[in-house]
Amino acid sequence: MSTDATPTERLLNALQLTRDTELDCDAFHALLAPLLDGRIDRTDVLHAMAHHRLTCPECDEETILLRAALGLLGFPRADEAPAG
Ligand SMILES: [Zn+2]
Repeated sequence: MSTDATPTERLLNALQLTRDTELDCDAFHALLAPLLDGRIDRTDVLHAMAHHRLTCPECDEETILLRAALGLLGFPRADEAPAG
């Protein structure tokens, strides 16, 4: 049991996400707020979420709506994977 895992890491571990995991909608929803907060810095997770949005119009729309709501509140965009 690791004591230095971040909350996001613990969430990912709880969801048992691995490199090859395909997200389901429940996992996507659990990760959406951390994603938009910029708290997910694992590119494999970012890619998995991007892939889920391509395959799931509902989650894609929810992401757009939530991001727009945050944008209206003046939060910076933080959901793009950093270069490299
Ligand atoms: Zn979905």
